[in-house]
Amino acid sequence: MIYLDHAATTPLDPRVLDRMTPFLTDAFGNPNSLHSAGRRAREAMEDARALVADCIGASENEIVFTGCGSESNNLALRGVASARRTRGRHLIISGVEHPSVMATAEALEREGGEVTVLSVDSAGMVSAESVATALRQDTVLVSVMHASNEVGSIEPIEEIAEICRERRVYFHTDAVQTAGKLPIDLSHSSIDLLSLSGHKFYGPKGVGVLYIRSGTKVHAQITGGGQERSRRSGTENVAAVVGLAEALRLAVGAIEDEEDRESLLRDRLLAEIPLRVPDTLVSGHPTLRLPNHASFCFRGVEGEAVLLALDNAGIAGSAGSACSSGSLEPPHALLAMGIQRDYARGSLRLTIGRGTTEQDVDEVIARIPGIVAGIRELARPASV
Ligand code: PLP
Repeated sequence: MIYLDHAATTPLDPRVLDRMTPFLTDAFGNPNSLHSAGRRAREAMEDARALVADCIGASENEIVFTGCGSESNNLALRGVASARRTRGRHLIISGVEHPSVMATAEALEREGGEVTVLSVDSAGMVSAESVATALRQDTVLVSVMHASNEVGSIEPIEEIAEICRERRVYFHTDAVQTAGKLPIDLSHSSIDLLSLSGHKFYGPKGVGVLYIRSGTKVHAQITGGGQERSRRSGTENVAAVVGLAEALRLAVGAIEDEEDRESLLRDRLLAEIPLRVPDTLVSGHPTLRLPNHASFCFRGVEGEAVLLALDNAGIAGSAGSACSSGSLEPPHALLAMGIQRDYARGSLRLTIGRGTTEQDVDEVIARIPGIVAGIRELARPASV
């Protein structure tokens, strides 16, 4: 299989598995236990915390381990909304956020909050000016993702964070797609909260991080035994935490080499596919985009049909569509960018990873034109 769906998930790095294995077997202690087995697990947790902090320019006490990126986003939004209730109930998010931000904001709105959804330009970019205009006296949080999972565009988060800092509003960014691909240095930043997810950078699934800058008020959403300094209760998933930290260390160390290598392959996809497939639009920003991310919209086809035909040819991509209330809806981010439905329905996302070769990319470039043409042919009304 040619796997070009690294934005969905990545394979577990064998070096990460090696680090995790002892904590899935012999070293099974509960990190909250006082005996030596517990202390060993606790030590591994705290080493992992220090490693993650080091990778993103944070302090250890600012790292909270969670169950996934979605949980980190939920904790950021719900936790701040609850902790700053006396200041206000207004939140600002962008129109291209991941559903774990979008749906959480909608839920907070149903619970009595107010949400402003910022519009984006045709490349999916949020402008810092639009954030400045939307800020109100009662705004408690702005959440704008670091880079889009749908179209790969990289948002001006530092500029937005600065504006929020000046207005004393917390700023959260979902960095699930960028960690291990772009450098993150929170020691020189005004970002208050940042989400990560282990399985997007060759770590295990079911583990995430929420960075919470010291002094930022966030109420726990899972209460209980008071783990993670009472910010997220529940016995810690030690093996996954150890794996996430090791995976992040390896990914951050490889950024420079992989960024250059992957962006060359990405550029080949972005240049060649529209040349060979008529009525194709490249979605996302032409230059400010993730090094591994290529995305297209083919007019007049269903993305799922392209995806299934690619799968039959041994190629894994992503259509990006979400099945809502029984009908296939184009991804909301593409509609927010003003892409017309007959293009947005035919979206294809190809995301490169460490194992992707030039031959893989050439094979995909060679197969796609025939696949799209075949589907368009089938979709054409029969002549009478
Ligand atoms: N945020 C973004 C931008 C994502 O792409 C994803 C996963 O696709 C998530 C959040 C959710 O992460 P997780 O799968 O760990 O819940």
